[in-house]
Amino acid sequence: MPSNYVKDLMAEVKAKNPAEPEFHQAVQEVAESIDIVLERHPEYRAAKILERIIVPERIISFRVPWVDDQGEVHINYGYRIEMNSAIGPYKGGLRFHPSVNQGILKFLAFEQVFKNSLTSLPMGGGKGGSDFDPKGKSDLKVMRFCQQFINELFRHIGPNTDVPAGDIGVGGREIGYLFGQYKKLRNEFTGVFTGKGLNWGGSLIRPEATGYGAVYFAAEMLATRRETLEGKVCLVSGSGNVAQYTVEKINALGGKAVTMSDSNGYIYDEEGIDNKKLVYLMELKNVRRGRIKEYAEKYKSAQYFDVDPYLDQNPLWDHKANCAFPSATQNEINWKDAQNLVNNGIYVVSEGANMPTTIEGIKIFLDSKILYGPGKAANAGGVSVSGLEMSQNSMRLPWTREEVDDRLRMIMKNIHSTCVTMADRFGTPGNYVNGANIGGFIKVADAMIDQGVV
Ligand code: NAP
Repeated sequence: MPSNYVKDLMAEVKAKNPAEPEFHQAVQEVAESIDIVLERHPEYRAAKILERIIVPERIISFRVPWVDDQGEVHINYGYRIEMNSAIGPYKGGLRFHPSVNQGILKFLAFEQVFKNSLTSLPMGGGKGGSDFDPKGKSDLKVMRFCQQFINELFRHIGPNTDVPAGDIGVGGREIGYLFGQYKKLRNEFTGVFTGKGLNWGGSLIRPEATGYGAVYFAAEMLATRRETLEGKVCLVSGSGNVAQYTVEKINALGGKAVTMSDSNGYIYDEEGIDNKKLVYLMELKNVRRGRIKEYAEKYKSAQYFDVDPYLDQNPLWDHKANCAFPSATQNEINWKDAQNLVNNGIYVVSEGANMPTTIEGIKIFLDSKILYGPGKAANAGGVSVSGLEMSQNSMRLPWTREEVDDRLRMIMKNIHSTCVTMADRFGTPGNYVNGANIGGFIKVADAMIDQGVV
């Protein structure tokens, strides 16, 4: 049961941030975990740390007008949420998706603060994006939009101020266009974005990092039960950047991924999505920009199912398996899906996506005592390698693939051990949600106290 302090805080958050349910959800989850920390550390409460952390340091909101190939004018909304800079420059992705609004970006920026703190690298939290939908648009249209987006955002970001990266709808192509326009306007070549191309300042392993990291985190959780991923059957959602490299690493560690999805439906391939099939899928998604349905047309071992977004559950989560890697979007697992997962024998959930499980779903995972790694911890591999890309840019010296991968593995191991230690220290052993929230919070809170009321 939430304490009166948390209840009052949430009433205020809802009153001051109306119509932002995802932001309320993200704050509530953290506030409930942090409550016990505030009880034991009255100095945090006196300095009103939690009350300050939930208010963005700055919100930039702007108009993005652009003209398509036929000369028609379009107007999109652009945002950057600069949430917290206590431990480093604002850092977090840009999302281009029609569902984007200020509330969704605030939830993502809020989560990012704790995630970045957990990585142990010096990065504050931010997030941005637009309701622009790159899906099905020509490269030329996407380039025009990206240029217009940066024509405003360039004045607010910089390698020591705010360093964006990719997220849903923003991959290598978009980062290229955004970076190119920034460079032209500023007349300087700096590490202002991460996820850059390899021959212009990008880091090896950055594209792979979020997916690889989520699988490393699952492996760490399994190791607490003296188990490995060898032979484990895994459900994966999504078929974008995170999902693709999650499947690649599952295969490398001897597991078998049997599902992938997009916003229309999912495929179930009982024989497993092996590396050869994954190469086909990557070409389908990243080059031809096709739909997951085509996978089942190519491989007869797979079945395709349309998914009705108005159903009260997602059938992707209703298959027998051992592990689940939600890697598409927020709230893709509700309480029914969570119950289906547990009933189907899934005992490892490692979240590649941000906040893919509703609060009711999380409760089912925690009550079932499965190994549940929340996104803040499990998907921190992406931003970790972004942090390593910033280091390489500052030194003007690239590291090898092995060196970056070793560092990524070590960071995921450390995040896992922080979660375990903090969950233990604050009386909820095995609860990675509390462990991640508390571990992320304390470092930021201490920095905020050191820096005074700013
Ligand atoms: P992406 O490459 O754009 O892929 C997103 C995938 O999810 C696509 O298959 C997409 O299907 C599907 N999807 C998106 N919105 C959906 C919706 N409303 N319903 C059903 N499916 C949906 O994006 P990504 O970078 O892999 O990001 C996936 C998740 O990981 C997001 O939650 C993101 O915040 C999180 N994340 C990403 C990174 C990173 O480094 N990229 C780091 C940390 C966390 P369609 O093609 O049909 O849209």
